[in-house]
Amino acid sequence: MINMEKNKIKIYLCDLVHNYVGAGTYMFPLNIGFIAAWAKKCFSEKVDIELFKYPSDFIKRFKEEKPDLVGFANYTWNADLNNRLSAWVKSLAPQTIVVFGGPNINYSQKGYQKFFNNHKGVDFYVIYQGEVAFANLLTRIFEKGKEIPGLKKEAIDGVVFSDENGNIFSGKLIPRLKKIDEIPSPYLTGLLDSFFKENLIPIVETNRGCPYQCTYCCQGMSSYNQIEFYSLERVKKELKYIAERVKNTNILIFADSNFGILERDVEIARYIAELMKETGYPRRVNMNWAKNQPKIFEIAKILKNINLIISQQSLDEVVLKNIKRENIQTSFFKEIINKVNQEGGTSGTEIILALPGETKESHLNSLRKIFDWNVSYIICYNCLLLEGSEMSLTRENGEFQCKTKFRLIDVAFGDYDGIKSFEFEEGIRELPTMSEEEILYFRPVHWLIQFLWNYRFYYDLLKYLQFLGINPLDYMVKLIDNIEKEDTPEKIKNIFQAFEKEAKEEWFDSPEALREYYIKPENFELLRKGNYGKLNGKYIFKVLLEAKEELESYLYNTAINLSPACNSKKEIISQIIKFLSLNIIDFNKDWEDISQEKKNLFIYNILEWRDSKYQKELEQFNYSQGINLYFYLPEEQKKSLQILFKQYEHESKNVTLRKMSEFMYLKDFFYRVKSV
Ligand code: SF4
Repeated sequence: MINMEKNKIKIYLCDLVHNYVGAGTYMFPLNIGFIAAWAKKCFSEKVDIELFKYPSDFIKRFKEEKPDLVGFANYTWNADLNNRLSAWVKSLAPQTIVVFGGPNINYSQKGYQKFFNNHKGVDFYVIYQGEVAFANLLTRIFEKGKEIPGLKKEAIDGVVFSDENGNIFSGKLIPRLKKIDEIPSPYLTGLLDSFFKENLIPIVETNRGCPYQCTYCCQGMSSYNQIEFYSLERVKKELKYIAERVKNTNILIFADSNFGILERDVEIARYIAELMKETGYPRRVNMNWAKNQPKIFEIAKILKNINLIISQQSLDEVVLKNIKRENIQTSFFKEIINKVNQEGGTSGTEIILALPGETKESHLNSLRKIFDWNVSYIICYNCLLLEGSEMSLTRENGEFQCKTKFRLIDVAFGDYDGIKSFEFEEGIRELPTMSEEEILYFRPVHWLIQFLWNYRFYYDLLKYLQFLGINPLDYMVKLIDNIEKEDTPEKIKNIFQAFEKEAKEEWFDSPEALREYYIKPENFELLRKGNYGKLNGKYIFKVLLEAKEELESYLYNTAINLSPACNSKKEIISQIIKFLSLNIIDFNKDWEDISQEKKNLFIYNILEWRDSKYQKELEQFNYSQGINLYFYLPEEQKKSLQILFKQYEHESKNVTLRKMSEFMYLKDFFYRVKSV
């Protein structure tokens, strides 16, 4: 059925996610909510808008009734799907106007040309801030009618398109909206109501834009260095509205790039704390923190969630200059980290590998410093080349000297009504200052950081080595460098080598090569079953399920040979490893076995040492008679693990544990310990 109404435009707006292998941590489609809210404000009843999050819902609805216009919010995690669906839309209804928006386009003439050459199903691209530009396009449709060629006679401000002869028209850039309260709230207008019944996480924007311009980030280009704020009253109303309706999640996400930048953000946090008390929602709030703002610690405390991730990305001056990034002041960063550690929270940061100007040594140094500063959770990324970033512009003007490759985005694939789609990310794999081999070298380093440090499986051992003057990074480097040695346990050697092989082979020379590989029925089946996927999780559980004993012997031998000081502490190192080994739940066993309380005699009380936040020497907790430590599993923890185990049940225990680890408190992988 084709929509025939002349003075009304029927619109489907899509902010799609790949949900082929089940629900993930997906968010409300706030972005298209804003576009719809503004369009409704401008054209009221003349626009009839429906919003979509899941590909199958959109496909079903499109088959039932063809709209005049379909809009796709386009980012790296759904770009391939959007492209294929737009071609599908055109194959069924060539007269339907297809519009893309979102920061996944290279903002240059060459970039626009390339985009329209590769996206034959797309008629228009709304660039930068979308509300006004999309409304401009709608105005053009009301003025000129719904025939596509007639709409493309003149440029439209804020919109880019290619005419039938392949000429690119790019309209004037639109200034950002100064008073963003003028955009009606997608929540308060009820536009997002239907999404409360889904397993989606509400996302709220209290401010928009970013005052910084990091060259690898899409915000850097699209914000023009500006930041705008919604009124406090509106933010509070939205939070209340959400808390009263949310059913399927206890998480709230802030879209802001710099939460905590204004004094009033403390008040927002207090308001959330009140909501928590009154309604039980939210239990967890995720946000990107502002830099150099002492109040972020206060906010985290108010929210009772002292897990602060403050990004660094690199600590190298040359790199920071190249990416035009101003980092948080070091003294301030260290002060916050110390406070968080003292409060028993998680102090985190993010580091990106292979930024322009990076060398093997500079990346090692950045990581070393982060460990020295006692950051307790270190998230390591590979630098991606995002289409909407300033960095991607340098490729179009020939200044880009890096080699890139393509990797499947975890779980971002699917088969929707016969439309097979695979999303990829483009990663920097070689720099003038860093070879591909050197970049690959860091893959197991980052894995060990995640495994031994972030996930806490062997954290206490690293803390003790740190006390003996060994930077945890140097220990990890030794574990990697010694892998070929004769006395390395064979199983460990094999696992490390398999990890490195997979880390190399997950990168493809082109998106086409990637697609060709995963679309093969046997590979697609493996993908569907979860055999491919994030390597860190896969190999953490491979070691724990298949070679834990061998790993511990390798950890011990490497540790005691690090220095004479380490060698003189053999007994303590052995005790710590024994403690940690018993502390980790062994999922090879059945539940009855797992539930059995275990007891072991130790000379040192590692629990008390932990409680001292590792500030004192472990030797101070020496019990000459020995101390019995009990490892037990409270009924509640056991039940919660069993539920998760069932929920993510898979023929491979490795896949089950990997999936579970993404949705649970990691401390539940460990027994509780007491000394009686
Ligand atoms: S990385 Fe963060 S600080 Fe830098 S431009 Fe992007 S949002 Fe802003």
